[in-house]
Amino acid sequence: MKKEDKKSALHIAKGTAMPPNVNQNFKLKKRKVKTAEEYVQGILSGNTVLLSQAITLVESTQPKHQVLAQAIVEQCLVHSGQSFRLGLTGTPGVGKSTFVESFGMLAIAEGKKVAVLAIDPTSQMTGGSILGDKTRMEQLSVHAQAFVRPSPAGDTLGGVAKATRESIVLCEAAGFDFIIVETVGVGQSETAVHSMVDFFLLLLLPNSGDELQGIKRGVMEMADLIAINKADGAALMAARLAKKQCKNGLHLFPPKASEWIATAELCSAVQGTGLDTIWQHLQTYQAHTQIKGYFQHHRQQQAKYWLEESIGQALKNRFYQHPAVEQQYERIEKEVLKGVLSPFKAAQQLLDLL
Ligand code: GDP
Repeated sequence: MKKEDKKSALHIAKGTAMPPNVNQNFKLKKRKVKTAEEYVQGILSGNTVLLSQAITLVESTQPKHQVLAQAIVEQCLVHSGQSFRLGLTGTPGVGKSTFVESFGMLAIAEGKKVAVLAIDPTSQMTGGSILGDKTRMEQLSVHAQAFVRPSPAGDTLGGVAKATRESIVLCEAAGFDFIIVETVGVGQSETAVHSMVDFFLLLLLPNSGDELQGIKRGVMEMADLIAINKADGAALMAARLAKKQCKNGLHLFPPKASEWIATAELCSAVQGTGLDTIWQHLQTYQAHTQIKGYFQHHRQQQAKYWLEESIGQALKNRFYQHPAVEQQYERIEKEVLKGVLSPFKAAQQLLDLL
C-alpha cells in the first residue's frame, strides 16, 4: 500500500480479513417483466417455474401484480375445472403432511398429476407455514408429477383463501388433475377450504372420544369422510372405537344436499394402510355426484359464493378507503364508544358519506 493511501478513510486496516463474497458470480440482473400471455403459455405447457411465479403474483397485494394476476387467471379459467379437488383438515399433529405425502403418491400411481395447496391461518400470525417445510413431503415435493406450494402469508383469511382459490385455477390449467387443499383445524379456514373443494376429508386421531369434543360440530358436519389416522400398532383398538363413535356421530347430522352419506374409515399414513379404501370413496363420490348432476351444481354454487364474497370484500375496501370515511371514522367511532351514538346510526352516517 502506498503511503498516501493509508490516509484515506477507505484503507483496509490490519485485522480481520474481509469475508469472501457469498456468491462470487452474483450479478444483479434486471428481470424482464413477462406478459400475461407469456405466463399463460408457460402454464398451459406445464412449466412449473412459471406456474410458481404466477401464483406469487396472485398472492401479491401490489396493484400492478394484481392486474397481471387477474389477466393470467382469466385466461387460464377456460382451461381449468378438469380435476378432483380434495379438501383436508385436522388438528396439528394428526398427520396431514404424512397423509398428503402417502395419498399424493397413491394418486400419482393412479395416473394423476397432483398439486398441493394450503390455507394456513396460523402462518398469518407466526409467519410460518404448514407446507413451508417441504422435507415433510420428501417424495411428493420432488416428484415430476407433483407440485407442492407452501401456504401464502397474508393479512386476512379472505385474502389468503382468494389466492388459494385462484391458484387452483392456475394448477388445473397447468394439467394438475388432483388438487389437495390442506388446512389446519383452527379458526374459519375449514369453511374457506370447504367452499373451494369437491370433497372434504377430516383426519382425526385414534383417541377421538375426547378429540371429538374439541372438533367443532360444523367441521364434522362438513366432512364427506372422516379418516381416523395413526390406526396402527398399539393405537389400533382405540382407532376402531373412534371409528364407531364417529359413525354414530355422523348419523345425527341432517342429510347432505349431495345425498352422499358420510362415513368413517381407518388409515395409517405412515404404513400406507386404508388409503386405497379412501381413494375408493373419492371415486364413488365423484361417480355418484356426477350422475346426479350435483358435482357441477356444487361448483356453480361455489362460484356464486366467491362472486358474492368478492363483491362484499371490494365494497368494504372501497368504503374504508374512501377519503370522507377515513376522515370521519375515528370521530364517529368515539361517539359510539361513548354511547352517544348508536352503532346502527353511526354506520348509516358513514355509509351516507359515500
Ligand atoms: P400434521 O401436523 O397434521 O401435518 O402432522 P404430521 O404429518 O407432521 O405428523 C405428525 C407426527 O405424526 C409425525 O411424527 C408423523 O410421523 C406421525 N404420523 C403421521 N401419520 C402417522 C400414522 O399413520 N401412524 C403413526 N404411528 N404416526 C403417524
